[in-house]
Amino acid sequence: MTTEAAVTASPVLAEDERATLAALVSELERLPGSQFRAVPGPAAEAERRAEELGAQELVQRARLLRISVMLREGRSAEGGRAVHQILAWARENRNEYLLARAHRELAIFYRQVGDVSGALTHAVQCVAHLPEDVPPGVRARHLQSLAVALDESGSAAEADRRFREALDIATAIRDDELTLFILNNMAYTAYENEDEPAARALIEHMREVQADGSRPFSANELDTIARVEIMGGRFAAVEETLHAVLDAEQSTVLGNEGDAIAMCLLTLAEARRRAGRYEAAQEALDAALGMSDERELAAVRAQIREEQAALYAATGRHLEAYEEHRAFHAEATALHSAQREARARALQAVFEAAEARRATEHFREMAHRDPLTGLHNRRYVNERLPELLREAASRRSPVSLALVDLDHFKRINDTLSHDTGDTVLQHVAKLLQEAAGGPAVAARMGGEEFLLVFPGVGEVEATERCERLRLRIRAHAWEPITGTVPVTTSIGVITTPEGVGTPSGLLSQADRRLYAAKRGGRDRVVAVAD
Ligand code: GH3
Ligand code: MG
Ligand code: MG
Repeated sequence: MTTEAAVTASPVLAEDERATLAALVSELERLPGSQFRAVPGPAAEAERRAEELGAQELVQRARLLRISVMLREGRSAEGGRAVHQILAWARENRNEYLLARAHRELAIFYRQVGDVSGALTHAVQCVAHLPEDVPPGVRARHLQSLAVALDESGSAAEADRRFREALDIATAIRDDELTLFILNNMAYTAYENEDEPAARALIEHMREVQADGSRPFSANELDTIARVEIMGGRFAAVEETLHAVLDAEQSTVLGNEGDAIAMCLLTLAEARRRAGRYEAAQEALDAALGMSDERELAAVRAQIREEQAALYAATGRHLEAYEEHRAFHAEATALHSAQREARARALQAVFEAAEARRATEHFREMAHRDPLTGLHNRRYVNERLPELLREAASRRSPVSLALVDLDHFKRINDTLSHDTGDTVLQHVAKLLQEAAGGPAVAARMGGEEFLLVFPGVGEVEATERCERLRLRIRAHAWEPITGTVPVTTSIGVITTPEGVGTPSGLLSQADRRLYAAKRGGRDRVVAVAD
């Protein structure tokens, strides 16, 4: 891109670039699941540009897009570990949208590794953290994830309520792709719960939506429809539903998951067997076998053996049926233990990453704290203040800074003791902490000097808060600590109405006002330029 040089030179262009990038990331986030292969390229590029712009939230969102594809490709351990890192960032930065998105990917991860309760925990969070103002399509997808997790945990009624909510949203925004996706999940759920009337009503609904829309059914959707037809013994309808899949060469069917087409062939084989068309059933089964070998679909392969056994039995070839059944059992057992191992490895990797992350966070947190008072330290301010100003500037919202310095502190050290001085500092720190609250930051800058940062707070309110703080400090019960020696503070306040200004510029202005307060007689707040 030719804008790079300009980006560093001009804040206006940087803002433009950031907005363009944010729009791109939002668009990628809205892309239907079936197009997941189109995501990694643009997402990686967006991540790189966001890094250059120092737009951390966009970096994380773009990264999560790539991770989501990893999970869909079955790279569970790597993907699961990476999502946990995003989750940690979102927690640290109190980013609700990203929290919701990371939880959704974790729900997918835990489902993949067969941990139903883990999946449900994250699915609940993925809805709970969703901000009010997210695009409706995003809300519908999150609700549908929760519905799937609830259903798999045995709460069919609760699941149905979320499915319907998701469906209503998708219908209202006329997102056919999403509507079909949700209906397909609902229909498959009804099929698995052996609720034929519900399943039939849902596939009818799918047909209506598909007829109105522009894309053909995907292989997954066709398979669901065919399964429901088998339920009702309508084998000819299965044939009709799946013929598009059979002409794989010239077909426009979207096989959006690796095993979708092989599953369709297997469904077809079962329908033909049940209809007594054994030769045709064998043909479909052979095709399924060819595909599962070619794509190394172990799970499908075991199911093919099971169907083969059933087909042999149906044609009276009992010995072969028996042999095939044994082969199925052997394969299924091997598959399950391989799956169990893979799950265990994936869970272990994710667990270790989360542990390491917690330890790192602990050390980082310690490095950002003042040991005497427990307040943040100057290092933290150096890192956090530029971020707070950037965030305020992008929203054109105010930030106020207050430098708080104890008056004649040397006297306390000298006339009482250094330890008494320390105790006073600890008490003052507690009062500052109470005065901060919410998103405000209270830090010890060194010695007996403290800083308060109030994001979103304008000049009048900041001055009032500092005035209240000054009065609280002087009125504190100091007697047991300092006897008759008073403890008072001088405070210099500066407000940048739209987040404009550098950290060092604002701090030195606050410092000048603090010294104006000292010169003016101490125990006072100065919030105007001298
Ligand atoms: P002013 O009203 O002008 O601010 O006077 P002051 O005495 O408070 O200011 P000055 O900067 O001259 O002295 C600050 C003193 O704070 C000097 C130093 O010994 C003391 N001090 C710095 N850090 C600590 C600490 O961690 N514990 C204790 N007990 N004293 C400290
Ligand atoms: Mg002092
Ligand atoms: Mg001082």
